[in-house]
Amino acid sequence: MPGLKIEIIACLKDNYAYLVGDPAAGLCAVVDPSEAAPVEAALEGRRLTHILNTHHHWDHSGGNRELKEKFGAEVVGPEKDRSRIPAIDVGVDEAGGWRFGEYAVRILEVPAHTKGAIAFVFEGAVFTGDTLFALGCGRLFEGTPEMMVQSLAKLAALPDETRVYCGHEYTLANARFAMTLEPGNADLAKRFREIEALRAKGAPTVPSSIGLEKRTNPFLRTASAEIRAALGMETAGEVEVFAEIRRRKDNF
Ligand code: ZN
Ligand code: FE
Repeated sequence: MPGLKIEIIACLKDNYAYLVGDPAAGLCAVVDPSEAAPVEAALEGRRLTHILNTHHHWDHSGGNRELKEKFGAEVVGPEKDRSRIPAIDVGVDEAGGWRFGEYAVRILEVPAHTKGAIAFVFEGAVFTGDTLFALGCGRLFEGTPEMMVQSLAKLAALPDETRVYCGHEYTLANARFAMTLEPGNADLAKRFREIEALRAKGAPTVPSSIGLEKRTNPFLRTASAEIRAALGMETAGEVEVFAEIRRRKDNF
């Protein structure tokens, strides 16, 4: 999307909020503001017009009230979780999508981390919250392995070049875990080295891309023969393999 610029804002210990804006159109949205102060600093005097939440967790919506009060910004979140999104104005769902000024935004309903989780799909970029991480996926707080497999499949169906902006900087730990399952994946080994270098200088590992995640993220690679062999699950179903990867990551 030529007119839209995306900026990364580090929040709390390892959260990311993002500014998405088109200055010429007077549009400036923040995605998942866990807290207000770093968002205000990043705005550098610009007026915030929208607050977008991928899910209800406080580390993605804790800044809603303060930012809405200061800027009069409209709060947009999952309609199905309306009661748990602080100060929500507009509830969105997959059927209706959303309009950001002139920009059509697709909404994907991606339940499992939370029941109401959504992803915001702009042209060329997706905000995945805590559903799809760089080399990982969110914990199953309110859903089943089957739900997460379906939710991840929706995200994986986006064009390969789609940039992935996720809710946390968990990538190095995710990479270490992924390497335990698929050390023979050359794309993964290369990415692991790149991630180590980025984190050594304190740089973010986002955005990723859908294509890169499909080649390296174990949660999207339940069909990998190497992963299946590592788990001793050569003939198991996709959901069973996913559930075992998730269980091992929970205990990693
Ligand atoms: Zn969360
Ligand atoms: Fe989170």
